[in-house]
Amino acid sequence: MERTVIDNKENLIGYSREELRRLFQEWGEPAFRGDQVYKWLYNKGAVSFDEMSNLPKTLREQLAAHFRLGALTLIAREVSADGTEKYLWELRDGHRMESVLIPEERRTTLCISSQVGCALACAFCATGKMGFLRHLTTGEIVEQVLAAQRLSDHTITNVVFMGMGEPFLNYNRVIQAARILGDPEGLAIANRRITISTSGIVPAIRRFARDKEPYGLAISLHSPFQHIRQQIMPIAETFDLRDLLDSAREYVSQWRHKRITFEYVLLKGVNDRPEDARELIRLLSPLRAKLNLIPYNDCDLGFEAPDDARLNRFLEPLMRAPFTVTVRKNRGNDISAACGQLYVKVMKNERTPRSRKKSVDKIIPLK
Ligand code: SAH
Ligand code: SF4
Repeated sequence: MERTVIDNKENLIGYSREELRRLFQEWGEPAFRGDQVYKWLYNKGAVSFDEMSNLPKTLREQLAAHFRLGALTLIAREVSADGTEKYLWELRDGHRMESVLIPEERRTTLCISSQVGCALACAFCATGKMGFLRHLTTGEIVEQVLAAQRLSDHTITNVVFMGMGEPFLNYNRVIQAARILGDPEGLAIANRRITISTSGIVPAIRRFARDKEPYGLAISLHSPFQHIRQQIMPIAETFDLRDLLDSAREYVSQWRHKRITFEYVLLKGVNDRPEDARELIRLLSPLRAKLNLIPYNDCDLGFEAPDDARLNRFLEPLMRAPFTVTVRKNRGNDISAACGQLYVKVMKNERTPRSRKKSVDKIIPLK
């Protein structure tokens, strides 16, 4: 597994339990030291090797000589009027990415990134406009949760891979991160409360199904018609609707009760007609599905959200759908923290001013 190495010190965050055990064995130490460090990293959220009080001092020093603890620097934190918070992180190589914390009455969700930018260029998505810059490492993924938990007063109960990037194009690192997040001796977030959202990378969905990964799966559908879907999501040309639904079937057939969530950003005149609703019912009824309608967050990309009259005409047939239909609440709009608004301008060859105000300016407000 490759990791970011900048100052010759590798980031220890991201190491799996097995990797830690192996590390200590290579150092001629008992493997259980790996278990101890694993707990310090993920369960106790240690920020220094000094804290690891059940390790001999020499071992703590050896760790500190070889490793760093963490690779994210917080450069901006914005709090929305509704309590949503956005964190802008700088990585060791100067790239930036974001996480969004959404506190609700009975749960707090952290929306995390899996890549810097995204190669898939969906027409309605601001992150897509950045292009692909790089994958995040397992450590950079896990640390978003560790660091947000440290910063926030809310206990993070749910994690969704709905920030920047396509998690299924960074499959191994994302799954390794999910393992650590879901491990009772790691961050101890219930597996079913970790959800991976994909634009429809069919081979990865099949692998996820066959491996019986215990995490939730969300598929960004956005149209029940192939010709429309491929107009707004170029990846649909590679993995077509029929294959996608077939892979979704494979996923639900692996489980007795699990449902699959289909995400659907409502775009006026594109996918909000009653016939879209009727076709959705036809396609999704045979599956154990949930449909999550997402209000389009305007990012100046040439789309509009439907007005109330159109929305009601679209929703009408869906009232009789044999599956659950939910409409996502629009949160954090005043800080551009809502889905699809995550867009960080990466300034090449420019040192980042660390003051909060200047950094915030670099989040392009897309409204
Ligand atoms: N790449 C993955 C996960 C990140 S995007 C995916 O596409 O599923 C998370 C969700 O935000 C997706 O459902 C995506 O379609 C949605 N999204 C993107 N742009 C949006 C916008 N402008 N308004 C509302 N939702 C958007
Ligand atoms: Fe990438 Fe998802 Fe945005 Fe599409 S919607 S460009 S897959 S992040």
